[in-house]
Amino acid sequence: MVKYRLLVLRDGADSSQLTEKINSSTLSSKKIGLYGKTVLLVWPDSGPKFADPSIESQTVVDGDFVLSSREWRKENTIIDVEGVEIGKGVVIAAGPCSVDFEEGVEEFAKGLMNSGANIIRGGAFKPRTSPFSFQGKGSRGLEILGKMKEVTGLPVVSEILSSDDIGHFKDVDILQIGSRNAQNFQLLRRVSQESKPVLLKRGMGNTYNEWLATADYVMGEGNGSVILCERGIRTFENSTRFTLDLGSVARAKRESHLPICSDPSHAAGNSELVIPLALSSVAAGCDMLLVEVHPDPKMALSDGKQQITLDELKKLTKQVRALENAIRS
Ligand code: PEP
Ligand code: MN
Repeated sequence: MVKYRLLVLRDGADSSQLTEKINSSTLSSKKIGLYGKTVLLVWPDSGPKFADPSIESQTVVDGDFVLSSREWRKENTIIDVEGVEIGKGVVIAAGPCSVDFEEGVEEFAKGLMNSGANIIRGGAFKPRTSPFSFQGKGSRGLEILGKMKEVTGLPVVSEILSSDDIGHFKDVDILQIGSRNAQNFQLLRRVSQESKPVLLKRGMGNTYNEWLATADYVMGEGNGSVILCERGIRTFENSTRFTLDLGSVARAKRESHLPICSDPSHAAGNSELVIPLALSSVAAGCDMLLVEVHPDPKMALSDGKQQITLDELKKLTKQVRALENAIRS
């Protein structure tokens, strides 16, 4: 396994001699601006420390993921989205799988807020298994989401499928990368440049290490506002839609400084299991929940079976807050 040496440079320091030395060696390197600091990543590391006055601190990171690792950044990364702090207590993002309705949008958005949502989620560009299934309302869906944001004042998160659509996402506060695009590395690099928080779902066929390495793609372009989202993986088990890997949630919370989200809805595939899986995720240490809620799940044009109602969201919020208090005390 490759070892990396991660150098955090002193603010305003002249690192030209250090850079020259590295450039004239056989080492690979990348300079990245992260969390207000300049980070110089150098590899493969062979042991000796670098000695240069421009270096504030250095850490050897040994593994498949580097920038997302807690080995160099001990403190939790807190992401502030329009005043909602992700990484400090459990944040609930809730809303429809796809914004597939126009009537009563304002009322529903207020209902989400009053039922405990801190962030509004809604799909507009939908990745569907069949090309003949409803593909989402596209840019119109984002306009509706904008309306939901306006009436509640809450930030919104929505999935981006392709960098061609980036112009439509100006008013979206968090860009979601879905499970199917988790290893679309060009898209990861492109969304990083938008300087917006990125909610990075785990590919349903990705290992834990592969999942954390996808965060390095976004962070490697200088965007440290990444939320890692576990949403269930493909296993031999088919009693649920996917298997929610809570072991990985607990492990990621320890091994990464990034906030961890859990999506019980896509893992369960069944509304009855959403609350128990949400509570288990909180117990495992997640910082955020992504929950699908629809005004009338029976009428939903995608993922109807797993979407819960506003009343169920209210119940989920109450139980999550009670569990959070119990864990903290
Ligand atoms: C979604 O969040 O609506 C979605 C499509 O999720 P995933 O990418 O996890 O399947
Ligand atoms: Mn969905």
